[in-house]
Amino acid sequence: MNIAILGAGIVGVTTAYELAADGHQVTVFERHASVAEAASFANAGVVAPGYVTPWAAPGMPLKVLRYLLAHHAPVRLRRPLALADIAWMRHWLAACEGTAYARNRARMQRLAFYSRHRLHRLADAMAYDFDRSSGYMVLLRAERDRRLAQPGLALLRELGVPFDELDADAARRIEPALHPHTALAGAIHLPQDEVGNCRQFAIILRDAAEQLGARFAFNTTVTAIDKTQPATFHVAHSAVPLRFDALVLCAGVGSAELLRPLGLRLPLRPVYGYSVSAPVPEPARAPRSGVMDERYKVAITRMGQRVRVAGSAEIGGRPDDVHHAALQTLYKVLTDWFPGAARLSSGVQVWKGARPMLPDGPPVIGASGVPGLWLNLGHGSSGWALSCGSARVLADQIAGRVPDIDTEGLDVQRWLR
Ligand SMILES: Cc1cc2nc3c(=O)[nH]c(=O)nc-3n(C[C@H](O)[C@H](O)[C@H](O)COP(=O)(O)OP(=O)(O)OC[C@H]3O[C@@H](n4cnc5c(N)ncnc54)[C@H](O)[C@@H]3O)c2cc1C
Repeated sequence: MNIAILGAGIVGVTTAYELAADGHQVTVFERHASVAEAASFANAGVVAPGYVTPWAAPGMPLKVLRYLLAHHAPVRLRRPLALADIAWMRHWLAACEGTAYARNRARMQRLAFYSRHRLHRLADAMAYDFDRSSGYMVLLRAERDRRLAQPGLALLRELGVPFDELDADAARRIEPALHPHTALAGAIHLPQDEVGNCRQFAIILRDAAEQLGARFAFNTTVTAIDKTQPATFHVAHSAVPLRFDALVLCAGVGSAELLRPLGLRLPLRPVYGYSVSAPVPEPARAPRSGVMDERYKVAITRMGQRVRVAGSAEIGGRPDDVHHAALQTLYKVLTDWFPGAARLSSGVQVWKGARPMLPDGPPVIGASGVPGLWLNLGHGSSGWALSCGSARVLADQIAGRVPDIDTEGLDVQRWLR
């Protein structure tokens, strides 16, 4: 088939690769000048399937209310808050109920474990390496944090995910640069999890997709998907509609706007986060792989010669409005754990990204119900960890094959009922 993919973030690029590998003729349309220039640009890079869970969870509403009063808060509301953000929060609140959470968690984790397996398959087949490191550690500052982590550990046991509960000394043996003066009650170490540079991977995979015949049309903004003709859309500065056999929408936060005129109203909203990446002057003072400060929900990861600190969840606000309090939290957590890991005087990259979030957690993958239009979107806070599996699932669906995993609840129907 002749297939157009709209959007070249990590989800669009992995989808392009899988469809090209299946022998389709693939063209990717992207408004930026290269791949992975939006949400996939500078994320934390964590691939930890056992921790891929919905943000809509029992107990979260109370936690979020408390966060709103804290100075170094993991979650913030920002102005302007759109009506759509308020509607999103209503859906989120409903999805925090226990049964809904368990169902969505199972859906996400099935996809996350499959996705890690696919990532390894693809990475092994690639001609180039990307920055990656193995192992991931959750840092627990105090006994209270250790207690709060217990339900998460029960879940890891249930899933059969190998992990070690460590005391502070053992944690410091794995990450020797952890600052000895910052209180550490213990840590959870996941040896099979990992950190990888999402953007580098996307660039390498674009190359591999091109070798399979895929084409990329950059600096091309899709303005509308045609309502009257299947698999047809319009791009800026051209009066001629573009017609294919099928379209796959992978436009991240831009997807909702393209779907609305078709009568598909998905509660997909941007939830903003930040990262700061800086050169490592002395490797012995930097993390070897990735850690997560459980209290502040901030990740510190090693990206080759750089260290990256990432976190914060802002609902509302504008894409280009940098909130300095959020950055202060990132710098505080970095300095608490790895003082001296980063050279902050030059070569520092500060980034704000928009997670394409559906309120209940899982992405939407599959046929849209609109003839010729397929969806692969809404990967939220785990798009890198979920991308390779999502792409394979969608390629199998387009080919009429049964995907390797149960895709119950990943289709758009859960939002149309
Ligand atoms: C601070 C932060 C930390 C994160 N950490 C992690 C992590 O550790 N692990 C993890 O798995 N995930 C993480 N994420 C989430 C992850 O980055 C996203 O889920 C993922 O990048 C989404 O990929 P995507 O391809 O769906 O969206 P995007 O990368 O945003 O790609 C969508 C593309 O579509 C294009 N597009 C949109 N509209 C149009 C249009 N009309 N015409 C043409 N092109 C269009 C955009 O330009 C963009 O390139 C993090 C996110 C943030 C913000």
